[in-house]
Amino acid sequence: MYQNISYIPTLALANWFDQGHTTTTHTHTPVFRSFQKYSIRRLIKDVKKWTSRKHGTVGYRLTQWLTGHGSFGAYRRKIGKSETATCYHCDRGQDDTAEHTLFRCPARLAARDRVERKLRRIIHMDNIVDVMLEGEEQWKTISEWIEGIMKEKEEEEWRREGRRL
Ligand SMILES: [Zn+2]
Repeated sequence: MYQNISYIPTLALANWFDQGHTTTTHTHTPVFRSFQKYSIRRLIKDVKKWTSRKHGTVGYRLTQWLTGHGSFGAYRRKIGKSETATCYHCDRGQDDTAEHTLFRCPARLAARDRVERKLRRIIHMDNIVDVMLEGEEQWKTISEWIEGIMKEKEEEEWRREGRRL
């Protein structure tokens, strides 16, 4: 059920990206406003380059990560689905956000390390999308990393809520 609820806005955002809307449109809804604040400039610096890319599909879980709207404590608290924004996967007491998940959470360091070794470079919030846009291999490596982690987070969330997988 949760998946169905969040699927619509995330898909809308994916389409929004792909249609190449600029940051000045769709500012009337809170989702788009918070999305812009969160990531549009930081992750997708060059919207034209993003929309005209020849490779790379944006699936449901990748969209969750790009938008920060998904299985993140910070987002779930914001929409009233969780009482705390804190990350469950480490003991740092940090908010569970898209950035924390990939780049700050000690529980996810090994996964990042594997990606960085494979691509032979350091990945961070400010270059991750640029690296994905460089080529198919980079896109595939990074999107598989993100999709894998988002899937795990979603399953852990279901487990905490006592749902059947
Ligand atoms: Zn953490």
